This record gives sequence, structure tokens and C-alpha cells, in this order.
Amino acid sequence: MENCVFCKIIKGEISSNIVYQDDDFVIFPDLNPKAKLHYLAVPRKHFALLSEAGYDEEILIGRILKKVSTLSKTLGLENGYRIIINQKGEKGNDAGQEVMHLHIHILGGEKLN
Ligand code: 5GP
Ligand code: ZN
Repeated sequence: MENCVFCKIIKGEISSNIVYQDDDFVIFPDLNPKAKLHYLAVPRKHFALLSEAGYDEEILIGRILKKVSTLSKTLGLENGYRIIINQKGEKGNDAGQEVMHLHIHILGGEKLN
């Protein structure tokens, strides 16, 4: 998708420090971390919202979540982590989703409030 910052990162047009990648998704640190460790897990396929997900995307999201659990030690998240998915709504954006390419925030590395 043109003008999508995460598509550009996935294509290598914007640099990021990718810490994990496979055929389905990539994980890289958030540019403006909200915790000592803050990663984004981003499907290679561009779609913005969970409401748009079909069966393949449902499976994909499940795969990502499970993979994050197996990578947790590698990512420095042995003490646990928090997962957040911000979602824009039909009428507003209470969650403040900024990037309209579905992504999973993974936060940890310290005690979170
Ligand atoms: P959202 O508010 O959409 O859930 O989160 C978007 C996140 O993407 C923000 O936490 C923001 O810091 C991060 N972000 C935006 N642009 C870039 C970028 O170019 N590189 C990286 N690594 N993160 C970005
Ligand atoms: Zn995209």
C-alpha cells in the first residue's frame, strides 16, 4: 500500500531494526517506545482493522500471538509483557490508532502501570 509507513518498513524503504521476520510478519522496535522494551509485530499483508480480517487473517493474528510467546525470551520479555492493538472506530478514534496497517504492540522490560 502506497504511503503506508509499515509497508515501507517491510519493503526496506524505511529503515528499522527488524528483530524477527518470517513469510507472514515482522517484528521491530517502536520508534517512540512507551516502555523500556516496545516492539511492533506487523503482518506483511496490508489491512488496517480486525473488522476487515477474513479467515486467513484470523489465523495469521493467532500465529503472531503464539510466535511472540515463543520469542519472549529472545526479546527480553522473560518477566512478561503486554499486548495492545489500537483500533480506529467507524465514528471516531478513541484508541488513537495512527498507522492504518494492523500492528500488535508488545510492551515490557519493566513493571508496567
Ligand atoms: P498506533 O497508534 O497506530 O497503534 O501505533 C503506531 C506506532 O507506530 C506508534 O507507537 C509509533 O511510534 C510507531 N511508528 C510510527 N512510525 C514509525 C516508524 O517509522 N518506525 C517505527 N519503528 N515505528 C513507527
Ligand atoms: Zn501497509
